[in-house]
Amino acid sequence: MSNIVEDRFAEKTTEHLRGLASQSDAIRQMYFFDPEHENVPANREVDLFLEKQLTRTKGVVYKYPGRVIILLSYTCAANCRYCERQDRVGVGLDEEGRLTDEELENAVQFVAEHNEISEVIFSGGDPLTHPHGLRLACQQMAKIPHVRILRVHTRLPLQLPAKVDYDLLAEIASLGPTFYLSLHVDHPDELTEDVEEGIRRLRKLGAILLCQSVFLKGINDDLEVLTQLFTRLAELGVRPYYLYHCHPIATTMRFVMSLDEEVMLMSRLRERLSGIACPQHIFEMRHTTGKLAVPSDHWNVDLSHVRDFVGGEYDTVEVAECVEPPQPKQVFPLE
Ligand SMILES: *Cc1c(COP(=O)(O)O)cnc(C)c1O
Ligand code: SF4
Repeated sequence: MSNIVEDRFAEKTTEHLRGLASQSDAIRQMYFFDPEHENVPANREVDLFLEKQLTRTKGVVYKYPGRVIILLSYTCAANCRYCERQDRVGVGLDEEGRLTDEELENAVQFVAEHNEISEVIFSGGDPLTHPHGLRLACQQMAKIPHVRILRVHTRLPLQLPAKVDYDLLAEIASLGPTFYLSLHVDHPDELTEDVEEGIRRLRKLGAILLCQSVFLKGINDDLEVLTQLFTRLAELGVRPYYLYHCHPIATTMRFVMSLDEEVMLMSRLRERLSGIACPQHIFEMRHTTGKLAVPSDHWNVDLSHVRDFVGGEYDTVEVAECVEPPQPKQVFPLE
């Protein structure tokens, strides 16, 4: 086997997902390596979304006012082929990505020293793959008076439902700050009986449940599929929050939809879904600042140019097509 194959974003699934994949083409496409489109080496050097540039102390990305992201672990229970963090997740950096107690102390100190931070967001990888670190960090963050919200982003309840540590999550929910748990779900086939049972348990813990999704060609680029997904999530008490444009990197191009098609689907969803089932359509440009809300086609607007959160102007067609992103004009002047 050549180096190229060995260095690629690893295929990683679970028994739960393999069982689902035998019945669902969508799940199969989400998780199984595609040699035709993916046989390129992982690029550990790229800095999507300026996360490396804006790392303040190991694992702490401070990019938007009032909230920080803590990248607690580069490990996930399974690797989604369209993952946007393929420079760190699934490319042999698991040990390096798992924050140590000492690194977590530094993260806590950074937050304690920044009075304006009221929300701490745990992401990765999947923070539930590092339960010791998550417990320690939440306990310490909750003691900081200006921290009012703890948010955890996870896909574990969809990938490995049997491994969810409900005791840990109940403990986090009881610490004081309001606890938001954001799931990542892209297709209704992910919502099996045992997954739905897990979601009911998560609600009972006292977590406010959100969901993030990605527009994916060949998987959920369909009005019926998306209607079913968001309707079911709302019924389960999971509030659809963001629906993202998939980021074009070398290995994800086969999933990337055109912004125009996404806008059309999103607009038809808005016409048929309850407001509580309807996520916000988000376009986030690589190497720039801002999760930009995309307008529906009910408005007569030109989508070919956008301005990011700090005034940088970009050509969206150019951003959508180039694999090597343009340099940012400016980032937030945070301390
Ligand atoms: C997405 C993101 C957040 C949170 O943004 P919200 O719009 O509040 O969900 C915070 N920090 C970073 C670095 C992010 O990428
Ligand atoms: S769960 Fe998230 S971080 Fe992990 S591989 Fe999937 S998209 Fe990437």
